[in-house]
Amino acid sequence: MNAGPQLTRVPLASAAPGSPRHLTVVRYGKANARPKAYLQAALHADEIPGLLVLHHLRMLLDNAAARGEVIGQVVVNPYANPIGLAQNVNAKLLGRYALSGGGNFNRQYPDVVEAVATKVSSTLGDDPAINVATIRRAVNEVLDSLAPLADTDRLRLTLMRLAADADVVLDLHCDEEALLHLYTGKPLWPAASDLSAQLGSRLTLLAAKSGGNPFDEAVGGIWWSLAERFPGKPVPPACLSATVELRGEADVSDEVARVDAENLLKFLTRRGVLAGDPGVLPHPLGDATPLDGVDIVRAPVQGVVSYTRALGEQVAAGDVVAVMVDPGAEDPKSARSEVRTVATGLLFTRRSTRFARAGDVLVKVAGATPLAERIGGPLLSD
Ligand SMILES: [Zn+2]
Repeated sequence: MNAGPQLTRVPLASAAPGSPRHLTVVRYGKANARPKAYLQAALHADEIPGLLVLHHLRMLLDNAAARGEVIGQVVVNPYANPIGLAQNVNAKLLGRYALSGGGNFNRQYPDVVEAVATKVSSTLGDDPAINVATIRRAVNEVLDSLAPLADTDRLRLTLMRLAADADVVLDLHCDEEALLHLYTGKPLWPAASDLSAQLGSRLTLLAAKSGGNPFDEAVGGIWWSLAERFPGKPVPPACLSATVELRGEADVSDEVARVDAENLLKFLTRRGVLAGDPGVLPHPLGDATPLDGVDIVRAPVQGVVSYTRALGEQVAAGDVVAVMVDPGAEDPKSARSEVRTVATGLLFTRRSTRFARAGDVLVKVAGATPLAERIGGPLLSD
């Protein structure tokens, strides 16, 4: 097999007669070559920046392949969610939740840990490399044995099967308005700090278990869950799996996407997937903080949202970050409600729609210390 690119159409479950769906998967490098990297974009189908970044990355990888520089393999899934991409309501693309009722497209990935543990419990030994190969085989066997029915669950399984045996998994998302930031597993830090520095990430959020089994954790968390299960056996965190939040939903331009793609290429080069010189690792722009230190600030009432603080500002616990204005208040003097954060840290996301219902997420502030009300709870906003 040559170095690629090799493009395959991976069929997906059809939602209705006459409506076939597929993924377009592009492979570089020899099958089974290591390290293997897997990248996908727009799992939340209305998060567009990653679509353009992978377009640019494919052009860079085409050139690398032509120069014979693909040492491992790179699997690019340039649009991960054709179900969501087809969801238009009132002339708007709505890709976060399945309109069919299948839930948030980045939650409820198959949890294979129990089944894999049963398969490998008597075969794990003292050689970490052999254990990694044993576990990867078992993961693939378990995924092959699953047969979900709903089209959304079958998409989830297809994505897991593309990614589960990779050394590097990057799931490209964005927030509404946001700084570039990452989510990754606590056991992967600081090993993943080169990813953060190369991408110019302003913040990395760490958790071992966020709740809801999002894609990056369903893939990467297999390793630290098994390490915990078999403390006497060496089970390394063999998959660097991360969610890359490529700023805000409107931050889409060729100029920015090209630089992001070049940075991903340098990261893959530094990780030995590609040959060549990745250059000097840039100075990190941000730190890692615990996911349970993020204050997810919600609207206390319905109303118009007027922010008082900007993205990228350092705020302190007790600071007002927004004012909500109730357009239906009897007296306009009592229409305004201040919204405060309980964290001290970096304001890194904001809601884009300037009207909110009570309970909607307005901003997120990343603090360095876990917040009492967040510990042990579901750590991701839905
Ligand atoms: Zn997303």
